Amino acid sequence: MAQWRELDEDLITSEVCMDCGRCCKTTWIQPRWNKHDNHEDSDKLPYLQAMFGKSSRSYVEERGDKVAVVNWCSNLRPDLSCGIYKNRPGMCVAYNCFKAANGQKQLPEYWNHIKPLVERVHGVSPYKRRDEETTSESSDDNNMGSIRTDAQEDGG
Ligand code: SF4
Ligand code: SF4
Repeated sequence: MAQWRELDEDLITSEVCMDCGRCCKTTWIQPRWNKHDNHEDSDKLPYLQAMFGKSSRSYVEERGDKVAVVNWCSNLRPDLSCGIYKNRPGMCVAYNCFKAANGQKQLPEYWNHIKPLVERVHGVSPYKRRDEETTSESSDDNNMGSIRTDAQEDGG
């Protein structure tokens, strides 16, 4: 198996997220709730309430031991800004798709969108620099693919 290469979590900045917004369109509900007892998921309810408020564009998919909810958060504006930014749920504050990816050793959903976005905004590779490196270019193919292939691109 190819070795996982860490993504640089510091590159997920508000500038990147403001051009992305993908995690405000999709969430996962995992049945193993006790796994999150000491996690920021303790405020999952307000997060889900925020996500399910008004959207007419949502659907649910069952897949293995997870349920995928594809939905535009009711607070996500057309320009991908958050309508309740200052009061957004703690999960939204804490979430970093590169951190999640490093934890799972799986590329984030929408990698094909996020990678060029990070490169454009920050002018560097999305991978964490190795000590011996001065540049990092070519290891995209060394990471495993995302488990998600079905997430809907809503456009807009
Ligand atoms: S998917 Fe990642 S880059 Fe996109 S908005 Fe969410 S945290 Fe930011
Ligand atoms: S509350 Fe804001 S940050 Fe959280 S999912 Fe909705 S739009 Fe995104």
